[in-house]
Amino acid sequence: MNIAIKPGEHVPVIIIGAGPNGLLAALALRQRGIKSIVLEAKPGLIRRDSGAITMPRPVLEILQSVAPAVYEKLRRIGLTWTKKTTYFGPFKWHLWTHDYSRHVTGGMPPFINIVQHLTVELLFEEIRQYPDFVTVKFDEAALEICQTAVDATVITAKAVYTTPYVIACDGVHSPTRKRLGIELAGDRSTCKFVILDIIADLPLSSERRYYFSAPGCKAGGGVLLIPEAVDAQGKAGWRIDFQLSPKESAIFDFEAALHNGDIERRLRRIIGNVPYELNWKSVYHFNQKVATTYQAGRVFLAGDAAHAFSPFGAPGLTTGFGDVMLLADLLQGVLVHDAPASTLERYTAERREFALAKQRTSQQVLRAMIPKNTFDRLWRNVRLLLGVVFPGLRAALDSGPYDKRVEKFS
Ligand SMILES: Cc1cc2nc3c(=O)[nH]c(=O)nc-3n(C[C@H](O)[C@H](O)[C@H](O)COP(=O)(O)OP(=O)(O)OC[C@H]3O[C@@H](n4cnc5c(N)ncnc54)[C@H](O)[C@@H]3O)c2cc1C
Repeated sequence: MNIAIKPGEHVPVIIIGAGPNGLLAALALRQRGIKSIVLEAKPGLIRRDSGAITMPRPVLEILQSVAPAVYEKLRRIGLTWTKKTTYFGPFKWHLWTHDYSRHVTGGMPPFINIVQHLTVELLFEEIRQYPDFVTVKFDEAALEICQTAVDATVITAKAVYTTPYVIACDGVHSPTRKRLGIELAGDRSTCKFVILDIIADLPLSSERRYYFSAPGCKAGGGVLLIPEAVDAQGKAGWRIDFQLSPKESAIFDFEAALHNGDIERRLRRIIGNVPYELNWKSVYHFNQKVATTYQAGRVFLAGDAAHAFSPFGAPGLTTGFGDVMLLADLLQGVLVHDAPASTLERYTAERREFALAKQRTSQQVLRAMIPKNTFDRLWRNVRLLLGVVFPGLRAALDSGPYDKRVEKFS
């Protein structure tokens, strides 16, 4: 599967990791006339996972500008939707609906949902159009990085690459970040979230639904139900994200929960008796973490290597793609237009600030979803219900912990 071009050729940028951010980085650099090699530890592209399914408008705009063919294909096979509805309690009382239809401008929808591995495949297909600019090397993990004042060297089990700049897009557990001794600072959710991707023909319109104090959840836990396109033919499925209580999280055993009917019971409380096929499953703690710096000499962190957020509000790719675009512009300045290397310092300054703002919003959303104690939970519920019974109070509630961001993200 390797694309072989000019062995031994010196390239100005080595990218570590062929996830969505690494591949977008290669395409953005290509667009600016800069060659790169992408090193990927795995033997091929990841074919299934629980990654991003929602691509909001900022992500779509970047894709349209860097890889218009990818954007067009996503538009064709992805699932577009315009409404977010939030419910409360065991009887699923309707709290509010946000309609984003007016955000459909220039034919671009506010959101496209598609499983992450299909987005990655489309980005990779696009890269294959530019063999003179990008080489992707699978089964080649970056094992070591050394730097001098004038270059950086990346060592794998197969080769040694010396290059002016390295971009590490090697994910949330980034071995590169750890090697450089950069800390990912922040916290993670006290409880776990069970993610189920199912194929089912639910009698529901395609919109995003969130249930506070959802049926089947303990300690006021919530459930997210979101439609997704699961294959290149646009087959429809749903992602269901169950919040476990902190107590359940400590002892949760996925296989046991599948076999003893626990998962089935929870699922039925949300989807009813409709037949379904389980497509993928996973369980996570959600992080709210940002790296203390995004640059160490000639090595830059981008994407999840630099920050990790809960998926609520889909900040993952928005933040990662934004990193990649600014870095590509700055590297173009230095490599193509002879700008001073000090201009690269803008990268950490601007992108960390952006990530820290996302971190604050994300923490606020998680606080609403995971109240600290019973009192906190009751107060949250009172505020939610007051806002429904007296819609006039919503404006006042908006200025508190239940500000617009929580409402928008939930
Ligand atoms: C359940 C869940 C739901 C999510 N939902 C959304 C969503 O709806 N919208 C959204 O925007 N985001 C979402 N996210 C976040 C999104 O999935 C991530 O932001 C995204 O995957 C980050 O991409 P990346 O390229 O930075 O890292 P990754 O996708 O993790 O890719 C890193 C790559 O680096 C490779 N690698 C690692 N170490 C090395 C090495 N030493 N050498 C070479 N290669 C290496 C790995 O094999 C991997 O291929 C979600 C995440 C989860 C877990």
